Amino acid sequence: MKHSHSDSRSGTVVFACHCLLNANAKVRGLAKYAGMHQELIEALSELNIGVIQLPCPELLHMGPDRWWQTRSQYQIPSYLDLCHRLAEDAANQATLYSGSHYTVLGLLGIEGSPSCGVNEVYDAEDWGGCPREVDLTRCKAQGTGVFIQALNEAFAERSLNIPVIGLSAAAENVQEQLAEILKNKPNS
Ligand code: SF4
Repeated sequence: MKHSHSDSRSGTVVFACHCLLNANAKVRGLAKYAGMHQELIEALSELNIGVIQLPCPELLHMGPDRWWQTRSQYQIPSYLDLCHRLAEDAANQATLYSGSHYTVLGLLGIEGSPSCGVNEVYDAEDWGGCPREVDLTRCKAQGTGVFIQALNEAFAERSLNIPVIGLSAAAENVQEQLAEILKNKPNS
């Protein structure tokens, strides 16, 4: 997308799960960086890609000091409603960009999250009751997080073809992980 010589915008954006730009939203004990995910932000900045920060549904539902939960525990009407409302807003934003000759490269989720996982979530039948330490390596399951599921549905309803990729929780090797969505980046 080209604008007048005084306008420097790239016309390229990506949606990112909230905690990639704000680790303070994470469940206590699970933040892998202090504030923003620096490697990711630097990579996107170098490529002139704007970032649309999605809201954190878990934070809005239960605040910053919540206990960790599984996807099954989040399958309750109030949380599903919240995720659908937030997904509608995000999909409406995506429609505005997509309909104005901008490129929405994709959406960055977080693998393992019960809400923002793309292919992998935390879930286990015996995870519930009093909060306790759990063996996270034992509780990974194939599946899509509640919020990502709602986003996929909202995008599909609007016929938006936006690739959704899941970064690893620590979001290491960012360039490698971004390769899939960068295939669609127009030359600037
Ligand atoms: S993964 Fe999603 S729900 Fe979890 S802290 Fe990040 S933005 Fe919030």
